[in-house]
Amino acid sequence: MDDDLTYERLTRLARLLQAEERSSSSNLQPVQLHALHYLSRCNRYSDRPATVAEYLGVTKGTASQTLRVLEQAGFIAKKTDPEDRRVVHLSLTAHGHRALAKAGARSLLDRAADSMSAHDQAQLARSMAQLLRALQRANQSRSFGVCQTCRHFKAEGDGKFRCGLTQEPLAPQETELLCREHEEPLGVVGVDG
Ligand code: SF4
Repeated sequence: MDDDLTYERLTRLARLLQAEERSSSSNLQPVQLHALHYLSRCNRYSDRPATVAEYLGVTKGTASQTLRVLEQAGFIAKKTDPEDRRVVHLSLTAHGHRALAKAGARSLLDRAADSMSAHDQAQLARSMAQLLRALQRANQSRSFGVCQTCRHFKAEGDGKFRCGLTQEPLAPQETELLCREHEEPLGVVGVDG
């Protein structure tokens, strides 16, 4: 692999997507948009302010400031954990979901993906996931993978699922969310989204 060329292409891709985010009709800053996107995709073990900071790769202070702005604008809401009042869970409000839907670079990405064959799209998704996991391993950061690809995920039949780490049941829709505690299956190189 030509590392210089790959680096150049990745940074160019990132700049293109960020330029699209800035030109979208919303007034959201990229970090605010990324926080909203993450909170729309994460599970109940991963929706705390410190985890948002970890996922975004920013300081807790930056995350705290970002989340405060989003809360004041009515995009997110806080809820205290009923079993541990020290824990705060964050979620998007209906207003936040609407803002996220009309902002960002997804439509540009969708249009670009439409110009590729299904085979090329699948191959790209696999390669991007492998590169991301390799970078995360090199950086010793968490994978934040999709629940159903985790080594602790258990399908119990009849549409029932369980987290083997917490031993708590998982709703079907939770199996597609991102998790801070996600771990790759033993002996498998990460290929999840
Ligand atoms: S199975 Fe893994 S990814 Fe899913 S909730 Fe449990 S620890 Fe998280």
